[in-house]
Amino acid sequence: MKSLQDKIVKEGNVLSDQVLKVDSFLNHQVDPKLMKAIGQEFARRFADEKITKILTIESSGIAPSVMAGLELDVPVVFARKRQSLTLIENLYTADVHSFTKQETNRIAVSKSFITEEDHLLIIDDFLANGQAALGLLEIAEQAGASVAGIGIVIEKAFQNGRHLLLEKNVRVESLARVQSLADGKVTFAEGVLA
Ligand code: 5GP
Repeated sequence: MKSLQDKIVKEGNVLSDQVLKVDSFLNHQVDPKLMKAIGQEFARRFADEKITKILTIESSGIAPSVMAGLELDVPVVFARKRQSLTLIENLYTADVHSFTKQETNRIAVSKSFITEEDHLLIIDDFLANGQAALGLLEIAEQAGASVAGIGIVIEKAFQNGRHLLLEKNVRVESLARVQSLADGKVTFAEGVLA
C-alpha cells in the first residue's frame, strides 16, 4: 500500500535493525485518514469472505480494526491484555510473549463476543514473531469460530511470524512488508510502490 509505505519512510524511526517506531501515526498518535485507507484496503482484500467480526488486540490493533469494521459493517472485538475481575470461566484466554516488551501477557476475550457462528478477520498493527496473531488464533479456535485470514498493517518480513502463520494454513495479508531495517534504513519486500 503506497500511502502506508510513504508514511513509514517519512515518519518511521528505525530504533535498531529489529524495531521500527511508528508512534506518529499508529502506535501513539493516530492518523485517521491513513487508518481509513488502511480499513478500506483490508475490507477490499477480504471482501469475498463474509466476515462477521474483526478480532484484534489492544491497543494499537484497535484503530485499523475499527476502520476495517466500518467498511465491512461488522463489530470489532479487541482482546484485553489486563484482565478485569470478570470470572475466568467467561473468558477465552491465551498467553502471548511480546517481542518488543520481552514479557508474557495473558490476553482475554469474553465468551459473549465470539461464537462458533463467527467467521473472523484477525487484524494487528505489526507482525514480528507471530506470537500475538497466534494467541488470537488460539482464542478463535477456543470459540469454535472460523478464521478468514490475518490482516497486518506492517509486517517485518525478516522475522518468522509469517512462516509460523502459514504453517497453520492461515491467509496472511500485510499492507507493508519491511524486508530490512539495516543501517537505519527501511527496505520493503515489495519494493517501492509507484
Ligand atoms: P509478534 O507477536 O508478531 O512477535 O509481535 C507483534 C506485536 O509486537 C505487535 O502487536 C506490536 O505491538 C509489537 N511489535 C513487534 N515488533 C514491533 C516493531 O518493530 N515496532 C513496533 N512499533 N511494534 C512492534
